[in-house]
Amino acid sequence: MKGCALFMIRQTRACQAAACSAPVPPGLRQHGVCLSHYLDDAFTRVAQTLELCQIGQPLEPETVDWLIEQGDFAVRVLSRRDMAKSSEQRAKLLELLLCLANVQEYVRHHSVSKAT
Ligand SMILES: [Zn+2]
Repeated sequence: MKGCALFMIRQTRACQAAACSAPVPPGLRQHGVCLSHYLDDAFTRVAQTLELCQIGQPLEPETVDWLIEQGDFAVRVLSRRDMAKSSEQRAKLLELLLCLANVQEYVRHHSVSKAT
């Protein structure tokens, strides 16, 4: 069955980042990368978002949604026992949560002025 074959491929997918063949853990399938690469990417995006906040740029609603999603995701990963995490990855997830909290602080204080 076609659908079944597709499902199998998704099940065994490896990380899409270049020169990385680490398996994609459950929970990261929609991102298509391993936990290390997810963290790299998330940190880059959160840092860029924080920069925008600091120069007073209003954030896109999609960006705010994305931030909330990453926060939920990080909490879920931290609480899942079936997702192997090194202590370094655990520390990074906590740091990511902290960065997300910083951005959300900015959003709360600075998003009062509407861009319309
Ligand atoms: Zn990877």
